Amino acid sequence: MTVFSRKCVPLFALPVMIFLAISTRTSAEPPYGPIRIEVDETRAPQKIMHTHLEMPVQPGPLVLYYPEWIPGEHMPDGPIINMAGLKFTAGGKTIPWRRDLLEMFAFHLNIPDGVSTLDIDFDFLLTAPASGYSAGASATAFLNMVSWNQVVLYPKGYDVANITCMPSLRMPTGWKFGTALPGAKQDGDTIDFSPVSLETLVDSPVLTGRYFRAIDLTPSQGPRHEMDIAADSQAALAMTPETQAHFHQLVAEAGALFGSRHYRDYHFLVTLSDNVAHFGLEHHESSDDRTREHSLIDEPARIEFAGLLPHEYVHSWNGKYRRPAGLISPDYHQPMQDDLLWVYEGLTEYLGEVLTSRSGLRNPQQAHEQIARLAAMLDTEPGRTWRPLQDTADAAVFLYDADEDWEDWRRGVDFYEEGEFLWLDVDTTLRRLTNDQKSLDDFCRQFYSGTSGEPDLKTYTFDDIVAALNRVAPYDWTTFLRSRLDSTSPNTPIEAIQNGGWKLAYDDRPNEMMDNRDTVRRKVSLNLSIGMTLFDEGSVEDVVYGGPTYNAGIGPGMKVTAVNGKQYSAEVLKDAIEAAKSTASPIQLIVGNGPQVQTLCVDYHGGVRYPHLVRDENRPDYLSEILRPHTP
Ligand SMILES: [Zn+2]
Repeated sequence: MTVFSRKCVPLFALPVMIFLAISTRTSAEPPYGPIRIEVDETRAPQKIMHTHLEMPVQPGPLVLYYPEWIPGEHMPDGPIINMAGLKFTAGGKTIPWRRDLLEMFAFHLNIPDGVSTLDIDFDFLLTAPASGYSAGASATAFLNMVSWNQVVLYPKGYDVANITCMPSLRMPTGWKFGTALPGAKQDGDTIDFSPVSLETLVDSPVLTGRYFRAIDLTPSQGPRHEMDIAADSQAALAMTPETQAHFHQLVAEAGALFGSRHYRDYHFLVTLSDNVAHFGLEHHESSDDRTREHSLIDEPARIEFAGLLPHEYVHSWNGKYRRPAGLISPDYHQPMQDDLLWVYEGLTEYLGEVLTSRSGLRNPQQAHEQIARLAAMLDTEPGRTWRPLQDTADAAVFLYDADEDWEDWRRGVDFYEEGEFLWLDVDTTLRRLTNDQKSLDDFCRQFYSGTSGEPDLKTYTFDDIVAALNRVAPYDWTTFLRSRLDSTSPNTPIEAIQNGGWKLAYDDRPNEMMDNRDTVRRKVSLNLSIGMTLFDEGSVEDVVYGGPTYNAGIGPGMKVTAVNGKQYSAEVLKDAIEAAKSTASPIQLIVGNGPQVQTLCVDYHGGVRYPHLVRDENRPDYLSEILRPHTP
């Protein structure tokens, strides 16, 4: 998954290695099914859709589950609150139900004698706000993303890999669709899909829409890679040939990095809308990528969006094919354990950033500025002095939903950004240990190796990661990793950059990626100078704990209305910060805090500061080698 709200990011010939893959998930549970699933989204523009299920049953007690732990979201956030009109019937007769008092996603029924098929009907309400993850807004007047976990129930006692489903979908008139679900047969506005396991179904959303475009990114070579785009307007579907070429290169660079592909075909399901939640959610043979409407045609928005598809695409290997054993929930009901998210998400964040650069989706300057921006964010994060990186993963279930306020003190899901530097550190260390003969590319070739084609799942543990690194270059990887994961005084980002042959430096020249991000989000980031981030109209988004504005008495949610006697604007505030360099007088801000208005003094005289990378000529330039294109 990618979180959008965060402040924030030559292949060597390989000898064939003996690689003991951890066994694929197996289950002794019996097969079950088929469950016939008919979803009607013709009222999606009204923000409601209907589902009808036909389920084989036997007389007696029955427990049905609504999916709770959603794969890729790493938390129990199945949107059960948006289920309405639930009815169970058999042969036209209503069957009563009661929710379990402890397991709130479970429903108890008693199936009468003589009944072999249970009919289930309910609506799924599409009125969620345009925030959050897949439970957030997915429908507009012109498009809808169908996430099957939202429209199914299934019986307790079965592994979801062993439950067979027969899905169909009815769309609004004239809409088109894209999905990794196999065997689509369209009749008018209704699509019937081939029978699949519930696991595959939930892993294969369907993007539908009126303004729709399907682009074959690799027309001359297999397997098929399709970019399916639904937008709120026809104009938003346009894409320059250069941008399309970069997405083509993304597929090529990923192939060069991993060596094999564990999917039959791959679909980037891209939603372009300002009215849906913005995030990315990985699937094995597709990704649910939701971003601003003009992300393909507006350059600042395109640069901001550039890293999303690479990140979610990497997850097909790191997250779906290879997955931490603790992140398997065989029935979406058994809790997941998030302790290895610094691999699942952190390594994906790193490889996603690398592929964004190698594919040309961001140019080298932008890649450097992005690394500098993230490193500076972590470099000034006081929360790193109390919450170790490991705990940001252990506590991900609630940190994912943490607000932006006091983010640098509370810490958020830092295993993304700090994980990126942890893996840059691993990459540069592998290169140093082997005189630049081996790198993380070699690790990827081994760890994600296997037969291309059908999706597979191989689990791993911390020890498996250490063993795989040792196969590339023997080292005390346990101490290397644990010291960075468990320390509350870690230098990881700075060290990783230094080990890559560069240094983090600050000056008054704007950082291109910070500037671009602020433009797209209508914010002004001054956290590296006065320690505050504001929205364009002056509302304080966040304050750096212990920084100058914190010491002045300012907190998140307040509103700056004037600066040194002038009406607030971002430029007026930046000018005042620069002017304070040559005076001992503090910057005076008029600040509203609900009903109260105060004049608060910010005693800061260091000028505006922005981070950049500067080459260190005394060290090998591993970073440029990592970021350069690796395919023709
Ligand atoms: Zn992710």
